[in-house]
Amino acid sequence: MLLRILAVILLIIVLTVGVVFLLGKKVDLKPEQAVTAIGESTPISYIATAPHGVKRFTAVLEQNGQRQVVVDDRQKFAGVKRIYHFLAGRKQAAFLQEGDAKLTVTAQSNDLWGAKTSDISVVHVSLRPPMVTADGLQHYINQGGAELVLLEVGGDWTEAGVRIGPDVARSFPLPGKPEDSKIRFSLFPFSYALPAETIPVVFAKNAAGTEATATFWTKVFPKTFHKSVIDVTTQNMQKVVADIDPNGTGDLLTRFVHINRDMRLENNKTLADLRLKTEHKMLWSGPFEPILGKRESYFADHRTYMYEGKKIDEQVHLGFDIAASEHMPVKAANAGKVVWAGRMGIYGNCVVLDHGYGLQTLYGHMSRLDVKVGDMVAKKQSMGLSGSTGMAFGDHVHFSMLVEGVQINPIEWWDEHWIHDRILSKIGPEALGKKDPMAGPVLSKEPASKPRVAKKHR
Ligand SMILES: [Zn+2]
Repeated sequence: MLLRILAVILLIIVLTVGVVFLLGKKVDLKPEQAVTAIGESTPISYIATAPHGVKRFTAVLEQNGQRQVVVDDRQKFAGVKRIYHFLAGRKQAAFLQEGDAKLTVTAQSNDLWGAKTSDISVVHVSLRPPMVTADGLQHYINQGGAELVLLEVGGDWTEAGVRIGPDVARSFPLPGKPEDSKIRFSLFPFSYALPAETIPVVFAKNAAGTEATATFWTKVFPKTFHKSVIDVTTQNMQKVVADIDPNGTGDLLTRFVHINRDMRLENNKTLADLRLKTEHKMLWSGPFEPILGKRESYFADHRTYMYEGKKIDEQVHLGFDIAASEHMPVKAANAGKVVWAGRMGIYGNCVVLDHGYGLQTLYGHMSRLDVKVGDMVAKKQSMGLSGSTGMAFGDHVHFSMLVEGVQINPIEWWDEHWIHDRILSKIGPEALGKKDPMAGPVLSKEPASKPRVAKKHR
């Protein structure tokens, strides 16, 4: 009798444990971004996914036999997915020293089983902050244009460049110097879309996310941009829709506006990402060559699109439209390497040339392409023929210039004096001959009240 009762109790226990295990689900735990380094107090995020949620979340730092819990969150979370944010560094664990440490992050499932999942990573403790200083030059910047600044980094750094509002420009070692050089330069854009009051800063950042910034002498010349009205005909729309999005659905107007609005955004993202394919050397020399012909637009034209007397869209046109004869040869503005040769939505058949250090040019609406990705082209070399592919109502060349993926006004690059003063005097052969490139052509000690650039070059 007793044996039988014991057997039943045992069976109930086995069944209960079984059910708990069957219903219990482990937490899927992974860092939002791989954690490789921490500093004084580095933000870390972990994504925890589990059908019944998370009961407890902990993070522990260990180094040289010492241990510190940096987070112990026992608040039950019953949802499916949660992102846990916490700080880890010397502020949280005072014993941390420069070197490697172990970070163990654990999440316990919010069910009867309470299974634990741990993610263990070796993190580098980096306590030396990055440092950065900029040159002492006077930087005259046109809104919608570009500028170059020299910077010197120090301490512990992995990334450095210039921030201009939301835009980030990388930095490169001076021509011919090793990649990890501390004296660097950054060619940066000042987007037409940014307020003229935006203050660019140089920055240096380390793997632990610690960032140092510094300002430098800048003067921005605000610009006014043109406004224009484009009357779109049914025929124009049919042409564009048939060429760019022949399988789209909806009425003609909807399809046209979709191309002009959404596809334009998508294409400009693709275009901006080509900056990652830049060469770390100067492929160009001398002034850029404008495309000859009748200029049909200005840089950053604000265009209002009208159809049957009604406004259907508004866009900013970030380039020059040049029309000459039909199927005219499209010539490279300067020497460079082809990083795109093919269709790109509104730009139709187009070529993007990389000139090095984040500087690129685009030639759109071509009817024939005679170059392919990887080709090196010389200044004024023909790359194909003009046409009206993409968002074009007639045969013309759309020419755009980009710095770090941001479209800028090409006009500066046609001016030999501007190129000398703004670019080559800082990183050209004459500047590289100097013992201290940071001293630059103008010493930092010079008072800011003596602008050296003549007005006409602004
Ligand atoms: Zn255009």
